[in-house]
Amino acid sequence: MAQRKPIVGGNWKMNLDRQRSVQLAEATGRAVHDASTSVDVTLFPAFPYLYAVGATVRASAASVEMGAQDCSQYSDGAYTGEVSLPMLKDCGCAWVLVGHSERRHVIGETDVIVNQKLRAALDAGLDVVLCIGETLDQREAGQTDAINEQQLRSGLALVPDDVIGRIVIAYEPVWAIGTGKTATPADAQAAHQQIRAVLADMHDDRLASEIRIQYGGSVKPGNAPELAQMPDIDGFLVGGASLDAGPFAQIVEAMAASI
Ligand code: PEP
Repeated sequence: MAQRKPIVGGNWKMNLDRQRSVQLAEATGRAVHDASTSVDVTLFPAFPYLYAVGATVRASAASVEMGAQDCSQYSDGAYTGEVSLPMLKDCGCAWVLVGHSERRHVIGETDVIVNQKLRAALDAGLDVVLCIGETLDQREAGQTDAINEQQLRSGLALVPDDVIGRIVIAYEPVWAIGTGKTATPADAQAAHQQIRAVLADMHDDRLASEIRIQYGGSVKPGNAPELAQMPDIDGFLVGGASLDAGPFAQIVEAMAASI
């Protein structure tokens, strides 16, 4: 089996101000310092604070990278209010999230737009976290695997094998995000295993075994160790618990301890 380096991301969403974003980046850098040698750590601040947080993580002794929570699929031009990938790179982003459930279900982003953003990000030289996952209705209707497969196939459409390694998949059941409900380790493992099987079908076994799959949805220090033990869980995408450096570092450490 491929040795996959774990990766844990902190999605700060539309929270904090500039001062608190910089302070949290500094505190997170200190708290994850030791574990960041064995776990990739990525922070996703709000757009206005990317530049300041980027400078902070670059100055940190820890190995922490920064990403944006979204991007425009267009490189420049008359798209009022949008933020381009070259602008994000200029602010120090190495990563971008695409297809987060809040963008799919609150903002109304379609699979086609998610795919356009993903491909534009890869073309622009940023690595991508592609978020997928089913709603509660879809889960109760037994559609979890079908929804994951459909979002994977559409999200990764037209992506060649040679750049697949720059993509991380985040499986985030929508009903678990910000709700305090978490998939059981066995349910999360089953979904991740199925996602890897779809990736193998779309590409090949070797590539599928190398792609990292994060779990997201109310991950906390209390549930992270058990989830981290699952063979196909390669890290976490963390919302609420990433707004405090201590709990976030404990989640990173749980991932480091699982290696
Ligand atoms: C997220 O926003 O991706 C997320 C998983 O949030 P939370 O950890 O708060 O459920």
